[in-house]
Amino acid sequence: MVLKGSTLSKKTIENIRRYRTGKKHSEETKQKIREARLGNKMSKQTKDKISKSNKGKIGSMNGRTHSKESIERMRIAQSGKVLSDEHKSNLSIATRGRHNHNWKGGITSLNNQIRNCFKNKAWRIEVFKKNNYTCQLCNAKKYVLNAHHIKSFSLIMEENNIKHITEAIHCDELWDINNGITYCESCHLEYHRNYSNDKLDRENIETEKK
Ligand SMILES: [Zn+2]
Repeated sequence: MVLKGSTLSKKTIENIRRYRTGKKHSEETKQKIREARLGNKMSKQTKDKISKSNKGKIGSMNGRTHSKESIERMRIAQSGKVLSDEHKSNLSIATRGRHNHNWKGGITSLNNQIRNCFKNKAWRIEVFKKNNYTCQLCNAKKYVLNAHHIKSFSLIMEENNIKHITEAIHCDELWDINNGITYCESCHLEYHRNYSNDKLDRENIETEKK
């Protein structure tokens, strides 16, 4: 994406550069982030915000059942037995890919294509700009930022029956700036860990990173 003739601030260019290049921090920066985050628990205000925005949403197991394999794993864990390597490997094969009860017909590779498409990259930058590159939950500016779909990515995909990358690119709802919100990486992970009841949404954290 070339922004011909536009004048971007140094800060914006630096931000874009980091998002494009996979935003690798130097060891020194990483250490700083680590120290800054150490013991830096979520404030009550942040927790309240997350809790408020999730009122009425349902829990991750609501309406879902554990797969046969999960039940088998839990049963074994509770019995205190140690699994043989062969048994572990059998369980693992039984839950992989199309054998998994969450198998969505190979949609993960479509998600990867969407993640890497120019539309997504442009959308992310517009969402960050809208929120002044600031996490809308904890107000952090300095950490890795994620653009989050307020109406969930997977719901938009489902409602618009998107099965192909070109359909995704032409789906206006998917790239609506008003449906995007900036979270820092830790608030975003926290959000999906606690509140997303859809496996696709959780997978899609990766989609929105970078
Ligand atoms: Zn945050």
